[in-house]
Amino acid sequence: MRLLVVEDDRDLNRQLVSALEDAGYAVDKAFDGEEGHYLGETEPYDGVILDMGLPGMDGIRVLEKWRREGRTMPVLILTARDRWSEKVQGFDAGADDYVTKPFHMEEVLARLRALLRRAAGHATSELHCGPVTLDTRSSRVVVDGNAVRLTSHEYRLLAYLMHHQGRVVSRTELVEHLYDQDFDRDSNTIEVFVGRLRKKLGVDIIQTVRGLGYIAAMPDVPAKRT
Ligand code: CA
Repeated sequence: MRLLVVEDDRDLNRQLVSALEDAGYAVDKAFDGEEGHYLGETEPYDGVILDMGLPGMDGIRVLEKWRREGRTMPVLILTARDRWSEKVQGFDAGADDYVTKPFHMEEVLARLRALLRRAAGHATSELHCGPVTLDTRSSRVVVDGNAVRLTSHEYRLLAYLMHHQGRVVSRTELVEHLYDQDFDRDSNTIEVFVGRLRKKLGVDIIQTVRGLGYIAAMPDVPAKRT
């Protein structure tokens, strides 16, 4: 999952980015409304954390523009404690949830997890695919009751495929959602990660759909092509 953080307070931006990276996300950052708007318009984020008080273009305008442009990614807004009207304006502009400053990082992470799984149509934080269970709270993966150790890239890959299970995901889509913009992207590395992941899981839940990409599905369930 790849996220965007738009926050002009440099310390807070850094704290958010590092907490999100520790939680296993690929993260891009912007420090003002213009830059944030541009990234959200041009890059395919799975979710955005957007501060309302930004220099230049404020958060409400950034959000309104994205929604007008048809950008539908989940957006969590950061609002000042005493500004209830910001929350109302934020929701009306297309926000999906909010956190009031100052906040606990755990709350931001929990709200984001909920937004990401709801966007992918899941009701709980544990995702299942055949014998594989992925817990998005702890970033842990269990196969048939046994914990499997994954690197952060392997985890991101599995989490993305399991959030979108039953749908064919192309290599390009994976590259766009697994790496931040500074990463040297090469879609060949995806094949390598898929190979390693299959080996570590030891069960056949990631299938290759020739010429199209990959799909996470139960081994005996036919792939639904989209
Ligand atoms: Ca601010």
